[in-house]
Amino acid sequence: MGQHGSASGSILLGLDGFEVTAAEVIDGEWQLEVQTTATVVGCVGCGVRAEAHGRRTVRVRDLPIGGRPVVLCWRKRIWRCREPACSVHTWTERTAAICPRAVLTERARAEACRRVGKDAHAVAAVARDLGVGWATVMRAVHEHGTPLVDDAARLEGVVALGLDETSFLKATRHAPTQWVTGLVGLKRGRLLDVVADRTKAAVAGWLGARPRGWLAQVTTVALDPWRGYASALVVPLGHARLVVDHFHAVRLANTVVDQVRRRTQQATLGHRGRKRDPLYRIRKLLLTAAEQLTERGRVRLRAGLAVGDPTGEVAVAWQGKELLRAVYATDGMPAARAALDRFYRWADGVGVTELSRLARTVRVWETEILAWQVTGGCSNGPTEAVNLLIKKVKRVGHGFRNFANYRLRLLLYCGVRWQTHHTARLRSRSPHFLA
Ligand SMILES: [Zn+2]
Repeated sequence: MGQHGSASGSILLGLDGFEVTAAEVIDGEWQLEVQTTATVVGCVGCGVRAEAHGRRTVRVRDLPIGGRPVVLCWRKRIWRCREPACSVHTWTERTAAICPRAVLTERARAEACRRVGKDAHAVAAVARDLGVGWATVMRAVHEHGTPLVDDAARLEGVVALGLDETSFLKATRHAPTQWVTGLVGLKRGRLLDVVADRTKAAVAGWLGARPRGWLAQVTTVALDPWRGYASALVVPLGHARLVVDHFHAVRLANTVVDQVRRRTQQATLGHRGRKRDPLYRIRKLLLTAAEQLTERGRVRLRAGLAVGDPTGEVAVAWQGKELLRAVYATDGMPAARAALDRFYRWADGVGVTELSRLARTVRVWETEILAWQVTGGCSNGPTEAVNLLIKKVKRVGHGFRNFANYRLRLLLYCGVRWQTHHTARLRSRSPHFLA
């Protein structure tokens, strides 16, 4: 070992009960020789003062210092009991900071969990930074993350619940796409849980595990009208108001626009959309809210339809989508009712199969669609926001295989409140006035 350790070195290390006895940079890494400060201990069996019986060095990785990886060489003390009648002979000292046979200190493991969970960094990247294996980091994420996810306080105070599906595993040649259902607390926009599959049974199972008092507090549920979710809610949440929110209704209408566009492409060109096809080029503009189109976008949209939509059915579906959106843009029940009737008249009058089917779905869910007005615009918007976060975790995770890992990662990223140390700003943004 090179430089000798010092009191300030021990302070900088900041590992409770440890002091630095030597420090050296080897191959770009700090090698810190450390020992515990406990020099007087009692026997674990009889309590008689133990005597030193040599040391054994273990090496563990700790948090980086100044951007450099750190290896702690812990000169572990071995103690011996001098009491002849005692059954304990020798033992090695222990500490909560470094678990037996660990390759990382506990605080490095907690930090690994925070980076993977809170910051959604890839497990492989964190493992590389810490100089350990993937499994070591994943184990740390499990052990430090599970208590956060299992904390019952996480689910407290939910009055509005949102349900939505996201894909978990993309379809392969041998298996269809696998889905999961996310349950979101709409008020705080927090992911409450993720259940495998998007079926009635999946949601019913989760609700069945909630205490009665918890269910009683939920007054509103926003959901996707396509799924069997609603029937899962009848018993446990029969008292709550069901709402088909803006986000899901628009998604439904957008699906119809897409279907008509694809059908028209196939009919006019004899193939699926390609990069240069007029309708394919405006596929995103077709799904953009009309009021958000730029002047240029409007021109491109009209031009694309003029060339690619000879029957005018795509334009008709687009108009239907906008009329359904208008229901959500109204203020108050009479206006919403009138807007809904305009949508029906249009959808029933134009005779486009996909749009007629949409109108039938809307009629089935009419009460829930109009309920949006009564709930003061209870929105599944938070669900949409959580969906974006979910996508980020999926991207980082490069396709999860294991549902338990996936759920843990999602909940750590969008369902847990992390304790963060607020760092004071060294230089404030406001200008300094020197006295
Ligand atoms: Zn003893």
